[in-house]
Amino acid sequence: MKKLILTFASIMNEDQIQILKQELSTPKKIVIVPHNNPDGDAVGSVISLHGYLCQLGHQVSMISPNDFPSFLKWLENSELFINYEKESQRCDALINEADLIFNLDHNALHRTGAMESILKEAKTTFVMIDHHQQPDDFAQFIFSDSSMSSTCEMIYHFLEMMNDTDKINSAMATAMYTGILTDTGSFKYRSTTSTTLRVAANLMDKGADGEAINRKIYDVNTPSRMKLLGVALRNMVILENYRTAYITLSQKELNDNNFKKGDTEGFVNYALSLDGIVFAQIFIENESEAIVKTSLRSKGDFDVNQLARDNWEGGGHKNAAGGKSDLSMTATVKKLISILPAYKNELRDVVI
Ligand code: 5GP
Ligand code: MN
Repeated sequence: MKKLILTFASIMNEDQIQILKQELSTPKKIVIVPHNNPDGDAVGSVISLHGYLCQLGHQVSMISPNDFPSFLKWLENSELFINYEKESQRCDALINEADLIFNLDHNALHRTGAMESILKEAKTTFVMIDHHQQPDDFAQFIFSDSSMSSTCEMIYHFLEMMNDTDKINSAMATAMYTGILTDTGSFKYRSTTSTTLRVAANLMDKGADGEAINRKIYDVNTPSRMKLLGVALRNMVILENYRTAYITLSQKELNDNNFKKGDTEGFVNYALSLDGIVFAQIFIENESEAIVKTSLRSKGDFDVNQLARDNWEGGGHKNAAGGKSDLSMTATVKKLISILPAYKNELRDVVI
């Protein structure tokens, strides 16, 4: 099939949309995949696209590379996800039989963790819908726009382009609203445009209950998560010279506080919320994977996507990225300290 790069400027091109419409005009076997450790945007975009494609009469499977946090499990149809970690043979069969595979909220196959190798081998048509920078070139249809607040917002625009927003039911609206809410830090980040808010408003009209979604996502703290946040804040180190703050959490600290997936979500933002701080990083030890997982956040023009690519085997967006370190926690922190001097002037000059 002809390779298509569907940027926002070009996706409006009727010819390109028609090719995809044509593809979707007869029943297909479709697999939808989010990134490893799926977040609200990944889960929300997969569920909403699933709802749409099912209505078109396709046979659709949602396969997640691994489990996602319980604060997303109230979403309608989230129980239909198949977890690759638990049912890899069943998933491999679905992938090998698929006519179309949608990759959502990631732009490189290595972001699908344990699914990377089966997806690399799959001889099928890939459709990428994603808002991260620097997409890899694995898909026949690439719908990529790093100016978008979220993949969920892109799903909404995709449905607009397909002339099918009338197919958005309340479960789909709720899923999309959830992804927009979580990826914009509750409509706070610069990526929140007036269009983002109009999309959110339309989703409310279609059944998304903003108050209920907010409560189910954010007002579900457990006592152990709050205790772990206390540990994280105690461990926070402020490097004023570099307008930087970082947090560490060891495996022991996680274990001592009954750590559950998703518990550390958002902790790094507390470091970034310090007045004058423009760069924050959290390091979370993961003994079973023998890595230290890291999340990076910034204010203004300080580009943590590039910093994560250059130093932490990761990437993401300009103001929010992730990565990892194969070193011990002590050596990882030493590495951060050794990296910072190279960024000193850039950090000093950030305008906020
Ligand atoms: P988080 O820090 O919340 O895990 O991720 C922040 C952003 O960076 C998200 O958009 C996420 O998709 C992306 N990201 C997280 N970890 C990685 C990684 O290891 N590699 C790349 N390329 N992106 C990542
Ligand atoms: Mn996203």
